[in-house]
Amino acid sequence: MAEIIDGKAFAAKLRAAIAAEVATLSYKPGLAVVLVGDDPASKVYVANKARQTVEVGMRSFEHRLPADTSQEHLLALVRQLNENPAVHGILVQLPLPKPLNADEIIAAISPDKDVDGLTVVNAGRLAAGLSGLVPCTPLGCILLLEDRLTDMTGLNAVVIGRSNLVGKPIAQLLLQKNCTVTIAHSRTRDLPGLCRTADILVAAVGQPEMVKGDWVKPGATVIDVGINRVPADAGKTKLVGDVDFVQAQMRAGTITPVPGGVGPMTIACLLRNTLTAAKRIEGA
Ligand code: NDP
Repeated sequence: MAEIIDGKAFAAKLRAAIAAEVATLSYKPGLAVVLVGDDPASKVYVANKARQTVEVGMRSFEHRLPADTSQEHLLALVRQLNENPAVHGILVQLPLPKPLNADEIIAAISPDKDVDGLTVVNAGRLAAGLSGLVPCTPLGCILLLEDRLTDMTGLNAVVIGRSNLVGKPIAQLLLQKNCTVTIAHSRTRDLPGLCRTADILVAAVGQPEMVKGDWVKPGATVIDVGINRVPADAGKTKLVGDVDFVQAQMRAGTITPVPGGVGPMTIACLLRNTLTAAKRIEGA
């Protein structure tokens, strides 16, 4: 039976370490979060981010804009935040309502304040092995892996998913750890067979419980990034990952659950990125 990684406890430890470091600074790192429209899930994420930002001793700047906000207005806000010395990190909550163009908005964020790591500059820095700001969920995955596997050199890593937000940055981070990395996607042939070669298997697919137990190499470390809401008993819904946890935990050496695995790491890593950005901007 696999050892289960407690992402919630790990994230709490990470936030405590961030709070301790923030307390030593002569300034308060500031995180600006921009929410356009009233998507219920986004509202909950933004409220959680603001609460946790304040809890670690940082300043939170919330900008809630109506769904009919124009592209020009949003761009002007981002430019204003770029110039604001109290703001060290800027996050524009995605997805943006139509017809806003998210690519153009993200491109307007100063790469030094891009705590989501989504600008082309930060993606390029990551690909080139330069220090930059790394997307929060991939950073969370690599911190959990580092904690379990002190040396990943030479391990076979398979990442299922090639999005700019999750799959590609995770693959880059695993490469930096000297893993032999394969990125799989919807056109990959014999995905189960490929997964069975993985010492580290990362699922970032968005398909509920797609990765079956017999896809997992015995003893492998399995990181499940997926967050899928599916019907449960009595007309309710529940969250499941991209991995069939019940089956996979019989073969894996270590595995993240959903919920309580990778999910809690994302906001903790956002706070870590804000601290990193603040220290760079303030020249510490
Ligand atoms: P995307 O939809 O952007 O990407 C999904 C990727 O999975 C694509 O590369 C796609 O391939 C691949 N894929 C889809 N179906 C299959 C299949 N049947 N076999 C193999 N590959 C497949 O999703 P994201 O990367 O944004 O997110 C992935 C998951 O992670 C989602 O469940 C999301 O909810 C979750 N997530 C969790 C976060 C957290 O905080 N824990 C944060 C962000 C995301 P192709 O490119 O060929 O289409």
